[in-house]
Amino acid sequence: MTTEHRTEHRTDPTRRSGTADHPAGVLVVGAGPTGLLLAGDLAAAGVPVTVLERRAPGHGNLSRAFGVHARTLELLDARGLADELVATGHRLRGLRLFRRLSLDLTELPSRFPYLLITPQYEVERLLERRARAAGVRFEHGAEVLAVHQDDGGVSLDVRAADGTVATRRAAYAVGADGHRSAVRTALGLPFPGRSVIRSIVLADVRLAEPPPGLLTVGGTGDAFAFLAPFGDGWYRVMCWDRAGERPDGDPVGLDEVRDITRRALGTDHGMGEARWLSRFHSDERQVPVYRAGRVLLAGDAAHVHSPAGGQGMNTGLQDAANLGWKLAAVVRGSASDALLDSYQAERHPVGAMVLRSSGGIIRLAMAHNALQRALRDALSLAVGHLPPLRRRALGAITGIGIAYPAPRGAHPLTGRRAPDLPLREGRLYEALRAGRFVLVSPEGPADGAADPRAVHVTRTDGGRTTLLVRPDGHVAWAAEGAAAGGRAAALAAWAGTGG
Ligand SMILES: Cc1cc2nc3c(=O)[nH]c(=O)nc-3n(C[C@H](O)[C@H](O)[C@H](O)COP(=O)(O)OP(=O)(O)OC[C@H]3O[C@@H](n4cnc5c(N)ncnc54)[C@H](O)[C@@H]3O)c2cc1C
Repeated sequence: MTTEHRTEHRTDPTRRSGTADHPAGVLVVGAGPTGLLLAGDLAAAGVPVTVLERRAPGHGNLSRAFGVHARTLELLDARGLADELVATGHRLRGLRLFRRLSLDLTELPSRFPYLLITPQYEVERLLERRARAAGVRFEHGAEVLAVHQDDGGVSLDVRAADGTVATRRAAYAVGADGHRSAVRTALGLPFPGRSVIRSIVLADVRLAEPPPGLLTVGGTGDAFAFLAPFGDGWYRVMCWDRAGERPDGDPVGLDEVRDITRRALGTDHGMGEARWLSRFHSDERQVPVYRAGRVLLAGDAAHVHSPAGGQGMNTGLQDAANLGWKLAAVVRGSASDALLDSYQAERHPVGAMVLRSSGGIIRLAMAHNALQRALRDALSLAVGHLPPLRRRALGAITGIGIAYPAPRGAHPLTGRRAPDLPLREGRLYEALRAGRFVLVSPEGPADGAADPRAVHVTRTDGGRTTLLVRPDGHVAWAAEGAAAGGRAAALAAWAGTGG
């Protein structure tokens, strides 16, 4: 690698001499959901990993996601965590976008045909437990200040809680350090975009007259509101008054929440007690490159967008699932460094799509002239009545429809999400728990000799297609029939020397 990305050391009289940390491993910056999933995947693949987290131990992450979509649950299933997470939450089987459009999640072709409402800290708790069990080392109170890289590795300047600064060295580093990412800034990368909504108000409230068990989203003119049940009698309200925007630090009162909700939804659903009230602003931004040499960006460090659609944490977790196996293969030497470029090629367009769709939902909900409202009604009608459009909308919001680019002439399944096929050995997403490529064929290994680069399984659903499934549950290669030619070449191309 020849590109050098360098930032100047900040001078600090308390600097300590450099510490070799994982010369052949990875430093992950940030113990949010993205960093935790990634670190766990790397450690499970045998890569030495340290997570550097600015927060002191025991101080929870303040980000407030509460919805886990079907695709994320599938990825957690591939790590043996989904059922435990599902037990912590409440299943929402429909989404209502605008007054006239309801999406039925039970139509999803997934083991998880719902949106799981559970607090972000439950997701983080399970991911951290898994990461620790896999051998990830955590350093809390460790703030990354600067990034230097050369052909041999990456060095991070890290300030400890006592103010001393030390250098940590690794083969690669990942900035999963949230929307104000110090890693992104240190790389000198821009974060273009804009503030879309100032003064979003959040509250956890009780409702005397709750809406039917759906996620409710609506807006009229200047007011927008979103309601989601936690399933234990509390509701999350997220609302916005375009005409009454205030600075983030302004106090929020329940009357303000009631008033905006009433204007947006036609009723405040008998809003009573609040246990938590907060105000924040929302940006739409995406970094132009997810990779700069030996440093990669994931999660909110790479993209932020409107909270409509509840996709921030989900997209970050999916970034991590895409990156983890690639980075592990490169660090272990079973794939070339060029494999990391596919992280940018696959995940940057997904981030851009999420920016567009979450921004689109909020703009349509806030339609404030006759033309925009007519467009919203026409779209609602079309999506509600045309099954292909509805499937597309469902696929985009839940992540089930996300597919990666395939080479020209490839089998149509290439790049798509592999469904959870029934196997003689169990289910596909159970087979993926090995963290390796899975070769799914109708009759098992054709020549009787299983290639060690993949887990070999036999599908029992009657399908005749042979699939090479990547560790992140996407199809790397497919061909019709059991004795499908090309599988060895596909394994060599994708799973390299390791698998
Ligand atoms: C009100 C609200 C509602 C939301 N609802 C949803 C939802 O329903 N669904 C959804 O998917 N998403 C939702 N989101 C978005 C979601 O919370 C974020 O997308 C998610 O937390 C991003 O995870 P992350 O790991 O990328 O970053 P973060 O969670 O921000 O974690 C970054 C970590 O890096 C650490 N860090 C920062 N700088 C440094 C440094 N210099 N050195 C060391 N460590 C550092 C931070 O302390 C933090 O722990 C919501 C967000 C908000 C605010």
